[in-house]
Amino acid sequence: MTKITFNFKNLCACILMASTLLLGAQDDTTELREMIPTRPACELPLGAYVGQISIPRAPETIARMASSGTPCSTFIVNYTGFTPEAQAAFQYAVDIWANSIESTVPINVSAEFTSLGPGVLGSAGPATFLTSTAPGTIPNTFYPAALWEKLEGADRSIFGGSNDINANFSSDFNWYYGTDANPPAGQVDFVTVVLHELGHGLGFTDGWANITPSFPDDIGSIREPNNNIPAIFPHFMENGSGTDILSFADPSAALGIELTGNNLFCNAPTAIQQLNQGGTLPKLYAPTAWSGGSSISHWDNATFPIGDVNSLMRSSVSAGVANHNPGFITLGFFQDMGWGICPGSLSVDDFTVSNVAVSPNPFVNEITVTLNKVYSDSFELNLIDINGRLIMSQKSDASNGRITLSNLSDLDDALYFVKITNSTTGNSVTKKVIKN
Ligand SMILES: [Zn+2]
Repeated sequence: MTKITFNFKNLCACILMASTLLLGAQDDTTELREMIPTRPACELPLGAYVGQISIPRAPETIARMASSGTPCSTFIVNYTGFTPEAQAAFQYAVDIWANSIESTVPINVSAEFTSLGPGVLGSAGPATFLTSTAPGTIPNTFYPAALWEKLEGADRSIFGGSNDINANFSSDFNWYYGTDANPPAGQVDFVTVVLHELGHGLGFTDGWANITPSFPDDIGSIREPNNNIPAIFPHFMENGSGTDILSFADPSAALGIELTGNNLFCNAPTAIQQLNQGGTLPKLYAPTAWSGGSSISHWDNATFPIGDVNSLMRSSVSAGVANHNPGFITLGFFQDMGWGICPGSLSVDDFTVSNVAVSPNPFVNEITVTLNKVYSDSFELNLIDINGRLIMSQKSDASNGRITLSNLSDLDDALYFVKITNSTTGNSVTKKVIKN
């Protein structure tokens, strides 16, 4: 069984004791647990009109969809209330995701046109969440059904369920069903909204974050209350001071302040690397007025304005706006949560996640990084744990395009990230590795 890991070399015992108390007693069992969410991950409102703006598919996605090759994943959609043109637009959005993320297990989606609340375009989320003991998964963590199946390599029909994502779309809107990313000013681009909602269904969801009004302070919670465990997403949340969101007592007024502080960030290493090559963390949407189905489970609107290539998962969609690109940051984040990403779908130049290899994986004592070519540059290798702590750092020249990290056998069995930075260009890629 994999165990939760603390690096005792870098962590004093008093901090460990304090965080253990804050985390509370967790049932560290390998027994499969399942929890159906109590609300959709997203209830997407119509945003204010800002003009006609179009973000096309990524070039790699266009090339993949034009080729006769096999997509990286397969979606099976059960349609209710769809016209043929609505179904064709939905399938187009499905094809974009199927050529962006990788899974060997078909992803089952239930899609329905129905009357939603006033101003709500669509709502969606995972059909259910499950715990996993598959390699690389975090114990006591709920994974969205589609991601769980990817990680387990098996359809969960073996546990009596098959639908992975529930998605609803308003029957009251003037939709644009074209697939050319060119909606008129007064129409909402259906492909964009489907792409956005499927993003939630695939895992862009905080799970159970909530604010309970209370006096004098509102109470915040983020774990599933019956099992007292979080979804995978909150493992990658920290505030502006670098404090992990899961280190706050749950439920508590302190956590409530964090969830409504407009100061919440995603510390997933590949997402950070895709954002800027630097150290800035992608900001999450955490407005001071709590909004269920909107807060936390989106990128921050000011950081990712309409027109930004990474803006698909902001908190609203406006008429006249098309975005047919899931975004590098979102895909990087998905990779860190456990998804596979289609080769070539992440950035930057020729030093990319898909052409840098790390082996063996899982590792025992040694990790060898194989670069895409022989460089004369030196490289910095940082080994980072799931909580963002630096475990080991090494600077070295690549010998024949290979660099080795050694003496790793004392590390606890857990998930780690290797960040490989070209010291000359500053470009970096991050790979996930498992100590076994
Ligand atoms: Zn949303």
